[in-house]
Amino acid sequence: MADYPEIERRREELQKCVTCGICHAVCPTYLLSGRELLSPRGRIVLLRRMLEGDISPDEIGDDAFDFCTLCYACQTACPAGIKTDMLFIAARKTLADSNGIHRTKRFVFNSLERPKIANRLVMLGSFIQRTFGRRAVDTLTGGMNIPDLRPRPLLHEFDEVVNPVGRRRTRVGFFLGCVSNYVADGPAVAAIEVLRRLGAEVVVPRGQVCCGAPAFNNGDFDTARRLARINLGVFKEADVDAILSPDATCAGAFRHELPELLRDDPELGKLAEDAKEKSMDWSSFVLDVLDPHFPESNLPPIDITIHDPCHLAHTGNGSTAVRRLLQLLPGVNILEMEESDICCGFGGAFSAIYPRDSRSWTARKIEKILDSRARVMVAASPGCIVQIERGLAERDTKAPGYHEIKTLHPAELIVERCGWLQGKR
Ligand code: SF4
Ligand code: SF4
Repeated sequence: MADYPEIERRREELQKCVTCGICHAVCPTYLLSGRELLSPRGRIVLLRRMLEGDISPDEIGDDAFDFCTLCYACQTACPAGIKTDMLFIAARKTLADSNGIHRTKRFVFNSLERPKIANRLVMLGSFIQRTFGRRAVDTLTGGMNIPDLRPRPLLHEFDEVVNPVGRRRTRVGFFLGCVSNYVADGPAVAAIEVLRRLGAEVVVPRGQVCCGAPAFNNGDFDTARRLARINLGVFKEADVDAILSPDATCAGAFRHELPELLRDDPELGKLAEDAKEKSMDWSSFVLDVLDPHFPESNLPPIDITIHDPCHLAHTGNGSTAVRRLLQLLPGVNILEMEESDICCGFGGAFSAIYPRDSRSWTARKIEKILDSRARVMVAASPGCIVQIERGLAERDTKAPGYHEIKTLHPAELIVERCGWLQGKR
């Protein structure tokens, strides 16, 4: 029998699959490819055969598990309750140990561990994009799909402690996340503004680094552990009541991935559990802890639709919090889109490694957004927002059903409706 400890410890989980195929209906990579081996069920069968010694990691190849957005929709759909998330991460870890990690991923993870190098690379990339066009960086990175980069990282533009407006009600730690730091600053700036307006002192530790989820999700557990050690240390030192992030994916990492990664670590395991206890999704915290009363708005009423980032839809209960929070805003009407909880096609490394497939999945999401007839699309993840904005920019504006859509984070919608950032940016 072959020895694959990460998969072996999930043998029982694997045996739960009754091969019903219900998960096919929600799986982006199955629906894109039409191939059983690229479905959740197909992947489970591959892992079973690996455990039985019928097939080896090099025969499987990386695509079988890399070509998965890790959206966890199959986990929600599965009537047997199989925890596909950790199963497929275990598979990636096993394949990475056996076949090595893709050199582009290795390069990205190594850089994220060294923020000074990552910052310089991003600034250089931004300069090249602005000088020679965005495609120039895509070409230099071997065809990866790199979004427009910020000229400078956002982290150092905040004071390390942002004072509340009025009486201090709580002290929260703010984890920025790589997309906010390097690509889209609006959600983070608005998220901090809402917190301070509602009485939170916001600590933005300068020493924070990537949450480690990209490395963990791609089987590079050692890098993920080193990144986690840094973040857990800086947030412990910050001595905060809660840890929040404008990015549902990074917030999810504190609640979901890091405790799993560090479960057997005698030193970091306890820190990870403490951080998990303090970590809340941003909307839930604003709604349930800060109990906001938003001012009346002079703006005309608007129809919005909501896309649920995978971490909120399938590993937490934050999707309802976003809706309940935004319903408190005067003049906001929610028009639900179909498939709001299905992946937007970003999938972290997925969109970089499989840009064509990622785009074509996003095109499906764009049609659902347009079909809702809303004029504003709200998503609680800057990564989803960047991906959907790109999809909207690529949509044929002459084809039936097109109308202009504005994309916003819930915090951006709140500051806009309340007039809280006027004159500040
Ligand atoms: S829905 Fe669950 S039990 Fe059914 S095939 Fe998919 S993974 Fe297996
Ligand atoms: S995580 Fe998402 S993409 Fe991966 S197998 Fe499950 S449904 Fe498919």
